[in-house]
Amino acid sequence: MLVDTHAHLDLPEFDKDRDGVIKRAKENGIDYILTIGINLKSCNEAIRLAGSYDFIYASIGIHPHDTKDIDEDTYKVLKSLAKNRKVLALGEIGLDFYRNLSPRDVQVRRFREQINLAWELSLPIIIHDRDAHKETMDILKEEGAGNMGGIIHCFSGDYSMAKRCIDMGFYISIPGTVTFPKAIELQEIVKKLPLSTIFIETDCPFLTPVPYRGKRNEPFFVKYVAEKVASLKDISVEEVAETTSENFGRLFGNSLLSDS
Ligand SMILES: [Zn+2]
Ligand SMILES: [Zn+2]
Repeated sequence: MLVDTHAHLDLPEFDKDRDGVIKRAKENGIDYILTIGINLKSCNEAIRLAGSYDFIYASIGIHPHDTKDIDEDTYKVLKSLAKNRKVLALGEIGLDFYRNLSPRDVQVRRFREQINLAWELSLPIIIHDRDAHKETMDILKEEGAGNMGGIIHCFSGDYSMAKRCIDMGFYISIPGTVTFPKAIELQEIVKKLPLSTIFIETDCPFLTPVPYRGKRNEPFFVKYVAEKVASLKDISVEEVAETTSENFGRLFGNSLLSDS
């Protein structure tokens, strides 16, 4: 009973064996996978995958890297895609001031617009924040994003930022990097945060946890994130699995289908 709250199953890294990867996740006790769109092509593909597998759901949005390509039709298309019953969230959206693949001012403007789009569509948001903690927090606050709530994915801030995000109405999602020996700060954050406020994710095909670090990541490996969180908090893996699954149900409950 595990949930991978952040996967990129549409990416070419899975082209050779996508169905096998998905099957392996199911066979190893992954109950839900949220696959994340990063541009319109990827959103369409995420929805197609969600349509093909009961236990896969989709999130749609334009990743900060791709915000430079947004035009007047983009939001119209996102709105129509959002009508699909397997779409649970808007994202990933946010800021990436590390790679800067879109100009910063464009990223900021498109982030604000997509928060408002989520509000219009009544969808929680999935936030990507890399090297832009202050700007991300300011925008979430100014746009009233806590009203929709959602997930700060691949969390990389400090404990005080995590607390502020939770107070605002967000969950903190812990990636596979928590298994890296040098990830001391993230490990301390996991120890301190209540289990009821966190998710676990793979962000596959990236950020592969130990013991597969260096190889391609896949949803099944969320189990290693769960094991690390359990050992940090000195509780059982079952408790981590159960509570993070409950969190998933609490955030998306109304949209999860009984037939999956
Ligand atoms: Zn991301
Ligand atoms: Zn991602």
